[in-house]
Amino acid sequence: ASEASSTQEHASATLTPVLTARWDQEDSFTLRGYERDGGYRALRQALQRSPESIVEAVKDSGLRGRGGAGFPAGMKWSFVPKDSPKPTYLVVNADESEPGTCKDIPLMMADPHLLVEGTIISAYAIGSNFAFIYVRGEVLHVVRRLQQAVTEAYEAGYLGRDILGSGYDIDVVVHVGAGAYICGEETALLDSLEGRRGQPRLKPPFPAVAGLYASPTIVNNVETIASVPSIVANGSSWFRLMGSEKSPGYGIFSLSGHVSRPGQYEAPLGITLNELIDMAGGIRGGRELKFWTPGGSSTPMLTAAHADLPLDFEEMVSAGTMLGTRALQIFDDSTCVVRATLRWTEFYKHESCGKCTPCREGFWWLVQILERLEKGEGTEADLDKTLDLTDNIAGRSFCALADGGVGPIDSSIQYFRDEYIAHFEHGGCPFDPAASALFA
Ligand code: NAD
Repeated sequence: ASEASSTQEHASATLTPVLTARWDQEDSFTLRGYERDGGYRALRQALQRSPESIVEAVKDSGLRGRGGAGFPAGMKWSFVPKDSPKPTYLVVNADESEPGTCKDIPLMMADPHLLVEGTIISAYAIGSNFAFIYVRGEVLHVVRRLQQAVTEAYEAGYLGRDILGSGYDIDVVVHVGAGAYICGEETALLDSLEGRRGQPRLKPPFPAVAGLYASPTIVNNVETIASVPSIVANGSSWFRLMGSEKSPGYGIFSLSGHVSRPGQYEAPLGITLNELIDMAGGIRGGRELKFWTPGGSSTPMLTAAHADLPLDFEEMVSAGTMLGTRALQIFDDSTCVVRATLRWTEFYKHESCGKCTPCREGFWWLVQILERLEKGEGTEADLDKTLDLTDNIAGRSFCALADGGVGPIDSSIQYFRDEYIAHFEHGGCPFDPAASALFA
């Protein structure tokens, strides 16, 4: 009975989404449509309150960063030094690029004012008068839409000097990246924003203390900032009604790959993969689930045995992976895991910024070995060499790209070593590549 009621809870919460509530409306992206649905009311409420009380509300809500790492947002905000002689900046990370992750881009397309309102409230809370929204370079349609929303917000007096007669000034600049995956890493993003080649900086100092132009800077993901208006409007206890104790609230899950209806599904954290697959119409063609990623390829893969685990930060760590961006890439039993792993590794080889030797050289070598293994020309020694290489890459680079890139390799060997062996015993891929359209 408890299983049934928890499914019902998830289903009803999914039917009353927050971030995706307006996506189906024809004018969802306009200021008129947003105001009609109660938009910018949370901003009016926030401006009546002290910035500290907004930080407290976000802290109490337990909202954790939705960009992947899950760092508590309110706690991060409280790290901004109170007595800094330098200006404080807010930077919204809209450089969504993690393979399989597709939540921030549709959110900005469908409801850009939600992000603008969240940006203004968050900037007010941390004592900033200047915010940047750093958008991935490839998505010009999103940039145009967001820029239009910012222009509308300036015209309506939500942005600029003395907004809504509050005495508070705030400027927002939409900045377009040039399409490098590394620029989603917060310190590389800041380098890029400063006009330099985007490469990660050593942390600490964390951006909250020394970020943009060496000033205190809060970098938060789009979905994190877009969650702030509803927390201000409804209260932190309301937010905590959803999700689990340590992973409260809701989030957008992007389902891609071998499901009948891929797309974005908003649900409380703690929902399971099996529940989401049901909502997405099941595994396509009635086939079986083989492996999946909880948060894009930078989070170690799991198998069908894990499909009933709650998708929250703690449970995913207990399962040896991470919740990450909730990019559920789903693969059925027609997929060659070696081939999928090779594809992901090619991505990391291409996107490595080259600053750290283990990452720059390591992924290049890993692609050589995985190509050999995939063609059936490898040996058992290649598998050991692969694991030795990944062991020497993880934790030995400035940023999380390297750690993320070795995740699919290690986990695929952990769960599917026999399939790697079958490749060299078989002298080629035992799967018909045409059977898997995704990697054909
Ligand atoms: P991280 O754990 O190093 O940091 C997370 C955030 O918390 C950062 O903003 C950091 O500045 C802050 N922080 C951590 N410790 C702090 C401290 N002691 N003081 C002040 N601030 C502190 O993780 P990360 O490298 O920023 O991000 C890694 C994650 O990025 C991965 O989990 C992955 O899922 C995700 N990711 C997302 C995308 C995407 O497209 N959204 C792409 C690649 C990776």
